[in-house]
Amino acid sequence: MGLKVVIASPEIIPFAKTGGLADVAGSLPLALKRLGCDVTLFMPLYREVVDRGFGTEPIGVQVKIPIGRRTVSADLFKGTTDGVPVYFLKRDEYYDRSYLYGTPDGDYFDNLERFVFFSRGVVEAVVSLGLEPDVIHCNDWQTGLIPAYIMSIYRSSLPATATLFTIHNIAYQGIFPADFLDLTGLPGEMYTMEGLEFWGKINLLKAGIVYSDVINTVSEGYSREIQTPEYGYGLEGILAKRREDLFGVLNGVDYSVWNPEADELIASRFSSDDLGGKLTCKKDLLREYSLRLKATVPLIGVISRFAEQKGFDILAEAMDALMKLDLGMVILGTGEKRYQERFESLAATYPKKLGVKIAFDNVLAHKIEAGSDMFLMPSRYEPCGLNQFYSLRYGTIPIVRATGGLDDTIKDYSGGRGNGFKFRQYSARALVRKVKEAISVYKDKKAWRALQVKAMQEDFSWDRSASRYIELYERALKKVREEPSTKGS
Ligand code: ADP
Repeated sequence: MGLKVVIASPEIIPFAKTGGLADVAGSLPLALKRLGCDVTLFMPLYREVVDRGFGTEPIGVQVKIPIGRRTVSADLFKGTTDGVPVYFLKRDEYYDRSYLYGTPDGDYFDNLERFVFFSRGVVEAVVSLGLEPDVIHCNDWQTGLIPAYIMSIYRSSLPATATLFTIHNIAYQGIFPADFLDLTGLPGEMYTMEGLEFWGKINLLKAGIVYSDVINTVSEGYSREIQTPEYGYGLEGILAKRREDLFGVLNGVDYSVWNPEADELIASRFSSDDLGGKLTCKKDLLREYSLRLKATVPLIGVISRFAEQKGFDILAEAMDALMKLDLGMVILGTGEKRYQERFESLAATYPKKLGVKIAFDNVLAHKIEAGSDMFLMPSRYEPCGLNQFYSLRYGTIPIVRATGGLDDTIKDYSGGRGNGFKFRQYSARALVRKVKEAISVYKDKKAWRALQVKAMQEDFSWDRSASRYIELYERALKKVREEPSTKGS
């Protein structure tokens, strides 16, 4: 029989999404199921899940979760995604809000309590429902306490359950004042430098790293980078200590969602054999952005969070130089106000060539992937990145900075050898130089077509990565089953 896996994630497509984690948490389970695993998902019942109209049913089970001196209850609701069961923890006090983690002005003040509730609630629910999983697969800081609970308070209830902790982005750690340690209910001796203490505060991501059986990040490159001070955000030392248990597994793509041959959200379907429809998509995209550009002018797409991570500082610096070139640009994103304002004002300066939309818009994201000629990702760091994969499949050639997953998956063109364009130095100059190179190749119609066909035929589907996850689950399980007495000591 296949492994019994519980996946806990603070966001899962199609129910609620702020970024790539949701795509991964929604598509990996389907691939695991195809490989014979018995998978169950857990996430909070946010207002967004209800607003999106998903059918979730109460199952008549309530779990009691100690939070500090209070005991609060969660009602369990159930739904499914492609036949995989999903349990939702419902408590309106925490999750019936406009956003998942915070408003544009900042994080919710009670995020520690909200995710103590979720993490401990998942473990309580797993016990109450008698799931007895082989592995609980945790994702990012919001679930970082689960491994700590499993190896302390709940070890006797779940003696043979292992944990895998996946870091999707190490810059978001869930750091809270030490005064609130009581909320977690964890034994005081876990609050040490070797535990979840971090410069006098509580660090939930660190808890996940320290107490899980096996750890992974979402690309090999990023798993190496985060062991260095430049990328480790203070956790490089603790990660280097656990490097024997730290792996990189590249995210996969759900090609049933991102496929130009079957995509209903774009103006015309196309394939690597017949790229005709891509021009229709480009014209449609130019119309969406009210850009009056000739369809022969190369169009660069950007879909991103407006955050420094994504390279908006060097992009902003590069814009005047880019706008002097014979190209158009369409940008879709949400995030930090300073970048939103900067790019809106740039769009007002260059109305014919630059379109900017501040929104989270899945349909437009598909249209940009389909209608652009190139896709720009100038990230300062990038754990894996998903848009470069989507772009490849739509014949939209990625121009990326060589970091993390981007470096692992995009090979520089170099006279026809690569599948995109890649610059190494984090600077506006290096970015502009690479865009110029891409444009010069674009002008060579035959070379460009060959590059598009090659890009579209690349395969980053989940199957291989899902097998890698199964190997990690087995590795974690082996640790728990072979050394039960040393766990937690
Ligand atoms: P991250 O998780 O760091 O934001 P990823 O590249 O891993 O970056 O994943 C981002 C996902 O979110 C992609 O599926 C991307 O298309 C989507 N996305 C990001 N911003 C927007 C937006 N403004 N509108 C629609 N989709 C978006």
